[in-house]
Amino acid sequence: MRAFASECGHAYPDGTRCHARESEATVNSDNLKLLYGWGHYPGARCRLRATQLPRELGRQLDKGGTIARGLGRSYGDPAINEARTVIDCCPMDRYLDFDPETGTLICEAGVSLAQIIEDFAPRGFFPMITPGTKFVTVGGCIANDVHGKAHHVDGCFSRCVDAFTILLADGTVESATRQHNADLFWANFGGMGLLGIITTVTLRLRPVETTWFRQQTVVVDNLEMMLDALHAHDETHPYSVAWVDPAATGADLGRGVLTLGDHATQADLPAKLKGKALYVSPPPKVRIPFNLPSFSLNRLTARPLNMVLGLALRRGAAIAHYEKFFYPLDFIGEWNRGYGQRGFTQYQFVIPLEDGRRRIRELLQRITSSDQVPFLNVLKKFGPEEEHGVLSFPFEGYTFAIDFPIRDGLAPFLRELDRMVLDAGGRIYLGKDAFLDRETFEAMYANKLSAWREVKSRWDPDNVFNSNLSRRLGLSG
Ligand SMILES: Cc1cc2nc3c(=O)[nH]c(=O)nc-3n(C[C@H](O)[C@H](O)[C@H](O)COP(=O)(O)OP(=O)(O)OC[C@H]3O[C@@H](n4cnc5c(N)ncnc54)[C@H](O)[C@@H]3O)c2cc1C
Repeated sequence: MRAFASECGHAYPDGTRCHARESEATVNSDNLKLLYGWGHYPGARCRLRATQLPRELGRQLDKGGTIARGLGRSYGDPAINEARTVIDCCPMDRYLDFDPETGTLICEAGVSLAQIIEDFAPRGFFPMITPGTKFVTVGGCIANDVHGKAHHVDGCFSRCVDAFTILLADGTVESATRQHNADLFWANFGGMGLLGIITTVTLRLRPVETTWFRQQTVVVDNLEMMLDALHAHDETHPYSVAWVDPAATGADLGRGVLTLGDHATQADLPAKLKGKALYVSPPPKVRIPFNLPSFSLNRLTARPLNMVLGLALRRGAAIAHYEKFFYPLDFIGEWNRGYGQRGFTQYQFVIPLEDGRRRIRELLQRITSSDQVPFLNVLKKFGPEEEHGVLSFPFEGYTFAIDFPIRDGLAPFLRELDRMVLDAGGRIYLGKDAFLDRETFEAMYANKLSAWREVKSRWDPDNVFNSNLSRRLGLSG
């Protein structure tokens, strides 16, 4: 039975709305505005436009250059557009329909996963696939075909999307599904917003008994043990992710904590949680109020911070709330300011399993011996590609993500890492990247790029949709 259709956008009980975007609250929709991604690097002066109504979007289209923007959680430059137009899609945040029999939700593309959790988790539904923050829009999740901790079981975001509508370069709106306009459908996953502006999305939510997780941690002493553990638990737990201590070198290289988990049922909950089976958390109370000085995160401060993190992970509770399990970083609003004025980048690569152990050791050795300040390392094993977007990032292999504060010498160092990743048959995640050059990108995505470019030239022959990222990587001519 169809049961839900909300009239207006989302507001939290404390009256805040779109709290995840406070850093952009001063945006004036007609002026050029300095915009950044989550890494606060690079910035671009953009013409920022917004509308609450998808039917008005056509009028906002700037044929000289337009790109959609969600909650700005991509780290680099996909949602900024120097001297051109950026369309803020967040005001398009209405639910259009929900079928509780199938968990199928039809919503506008600016709806965030935070909003979906808040409204649907109490009804026993959770996003099917979620990245490490809930402050992302459904449109943004499609454009990056985001992956979560259960990629080896669930695949990417494309798995839970049945259809979307999209505003095209000629101002018309088309629908796309696996059967209808299939080329447009698949090219949008990982397509970085470069084919149009997604207006509405039909996606399947996951029925859940509780919003809690059974959690288990495995402490490992070195890289071999870590990779063994990742393989051993591939089948046993749908969710798995490892934190690797960036300070560990030599025989300890790769030391860390593997966290495994699965959805808890009612029966799994201890007595004190039985009445809170579908509990949803309020928005974060703690936030970093301004950019910390760039010197705050250095080798001296990164080490104790990582030690505290490692300790906290080791002591993970057997039953964890989804906030702690999926979104530990969301506890501190605008934590990205902790990296200082110059900002930071997250370097995430995937390399094939074959020869992967040797390659990942070499990459880790190079990272830990560099004079850069690696912080927050995360290691995961991706599953095989089944249904994926044309330019989706994941393939079966090891994926590793590391934050680097922007410092002198970082760009040449990342170029060196790029060459090592390419040499290993790997590639870089565009949703996090700000540094990759066109030639290396084309080599990394060689097997998919011409197919994607064909779709782009069919649906957007004049490259109306472009961004700083698309110009850097040659994705818009
Ligand atoms: C703390 C943190 C953890 C993260 N963890 C993960 C993770 O585990 N896995 C993962 O895959 N990613 C992860 N990410 C990255 C994040 O999930 C993606 O970058 C996501 O796409 C951001 O969504 P957004 O709404 O903020 O989009 P934005 O960053 O604003 O935009 C991203 C792209 O989406 C496009 N876009 C946005 N809205 C639309 C629309 N309506 N139509 C067409 N295109 C659109 C933009 O043009 C741009 O190319 C993480 C990010 C953070 C900050």
